[in-house]
Amino acid sequence: MFEALFQTFEEPEGGVALTARLAAFREELLRRKLTGFVIPRADQQQNEYVPPSDERLAWLTGFTGSAGMAIVLTHGAAVFVDGRYTLQAAKQVDVKAWSVEPLVEPPPESWLSEHLKAGDRLGFDPWLHTSAAAERLAAACARAGAELVAVDSNPLDSVWTERPAPPLGAVSVHGLEFAGESEADKLGRIRAEIAKLGVDALVLSDSHAVAWTFNIRGADISHTPLPLSYALVPKDGHPSIFIDHRKLSNSTRAHLEASADVKEPDALTAALAALSQSGASIALDNATAADALSRLISSSGGKPVRGNDPVALLKAMKNAVEIKGTQTAHRRDAVALARFLAWIDHEAPKRGLTEIDTVEALETFRRDTGALKDVSFPTIAGTGPNGAIVHYRVTRKTNRRIALGDLLLIDSGAQYEDGTTDVTRTIAIGEPTDEMRDRFTRVLRGHIAIARAAFPDGTSGAQLDSLARQFLWHAGLDFAHGTGHGVGSYLSVHEGPARISKLGTAPLKRGMILSNEPGYYKTDAFGIRIENLELVVAAEIEGAEQPMNAFETLTLAPIDRRLINVGRISKREINWINDYHARVRREVAPLLDEATRTWLEAATEPLVQPQ
Ligand code: ZN
Ligand code: ZN
Repeated sequence: MFEALFQTFEEPEGGVALTARLAAFREELLRRKLTGFVIPRADQQQNEYVPPSDERLAWLTGFTGSAGMAIVLTHGAAVFVDGRYTLQAAKQVDVKAWSVEPLVEPPPESWLSEHLKAGDRLGFDPWLHTSAAAERLAAACARAGAELVAVDSNPLDSVWTERPAPPLGAVSVHGLEFAGESEADKLGRIRAEIAKLGVDALVLSDSHAVAWTFNIRGADISHTPLPLSYALVPKDGHPSIFIDHRKLSNSTRAHLEASADVKEPDALTAALAALSQSGASIALDNATAADALSRLISSSGGKPVRGNDPVALLKAMKNAVEIKGTQTAHRRDAVALARFLAWIDHEAPKRGLTEIDTVEALETFRRDTGALKDVSFPTIAGTGPNGAIVHYRVTRKTNRRIALGDLLLIDSGAQYEDGTTDVTRTIAIGEPTDEMRDRFTRVLRGHIAIARAAFPDGTSGAQLDSLARQFLWHAGLDFAHGTGHGVGSYLSVHEGPARISKLGTAPLKRGMILSNEPGYYKTDAFGIRIENLELVVAAEIEGAEQPMNAFETLTLAPIDRRLINVGRISKREINWINDYHARVRREVAPLLDEATRTWLEAATEPLVQPQ
């Protein structure tokens, strides 16, 4: 019934005897006169989701988390993971062959400085690291008197005999009815940015930027409609796009050829070398450009200029057509969410649904819209103690039955051609405890503080972040993740440059879409998160002396009234909730079947504060 789900629940294989692979890899290093090698969990463009052909870390170590690194030395090997994955890594890797080490504090470079010996030759594949990452590795080697060696071909690929072929997902045109701006107009704006940078050309090393610029989407990677590709935009003259021709139909090729020279991916290096020979300065994106590109430009006589890809900001500020599209997408998604939430209220208390049941049901309701292209990330459905694991992903083994008294946290999203969604609701199953209601109310007040915020144009996400935490802080509580991330337009659900977090230095600009998702997690007990997507808009403030911005909420789904401690919130907050629920009812109820509409009307009843 659900066999074609966009998400699987298989436990990643672990504890398998991968030791033979490690031995073969060490022999290959020996043949190449290397004493060690670095294997990041990365593809050439630092994508969040990587195709199977780039799962080198998982193939060699067994560790399948979404972030990590391995370093193999002649004597000793380590897998580096962040706090989310410590337990998983210890289960998945052969701990006799690998030690599990922290990825962040201290970083792998500290481990390297301790374990490398003078004269060692540590290899790395410059296509899989940014220049900044390569510089950190080089510094660690230097401290130990060792040498960092950029290899021409990856030694792991030599021993990975059954390595899958790179993906060849069909490219489609993202029409003007969704994109709202032609390729020619976008290229005009990019050329203006190139002029501001004072360079001769810009490399688009991020497939998201290529997709946005040329109004195309692809199918190379799960959950994000990316066409893996590069582009080279000169300050004047024709741009080139580098993409496998097998992904193009006659019509998509014709679409691309109208604004660019369409070339095979391996033509990129020749094009960069040719441009560099004239001494050209070429802008590269700090976040996604492989160190190999920088090296190639330098060694061919050009000048690599590293910085932020200007396209990231252009892409993040959605135009009127994209905004209308995301509003339509959110109303469509709201129908699926209302049906899902009604179903949960009806079924969960009586028949012991499992977490997997909820994931399957939610995806089915979204499929029923007839417009679902993919889920925007694997759904996080955690009940009881599983809800407290921030990046929890249910598997057949961890699948928990929803019990009376549980909080169910469900964080999910959809990819529709007109917009990307991301929403979290926390649902009371049976009677919640006073503690659950207190914590939920504090999280909700933080969520409302962000939703109602007014802020001068140019304000950064870091400046807003504490608004979401203040009511938790009052009780000595907090949550260990950012408050919000940028969201793409039928692109990545995690999009830069802006975010609402301590680290969010980029200003929030009108047209950006950001999530508002404070939470609270009580280990081994329950998890709470309330997430809506918000659009940055101009704020209408009487007497304002400077341009001001505010958020307009895009997500339309009831917030569980049973978890709100009405006596502990302000009149203003009550009004916000009642206005929001009235809007949900007004916009979504007409789109629902009768049973769901009846449920929605009850779920959006106004709250009344006790006198
Ligand atoms: Zn989410
Ligand atoms: Zn989110």
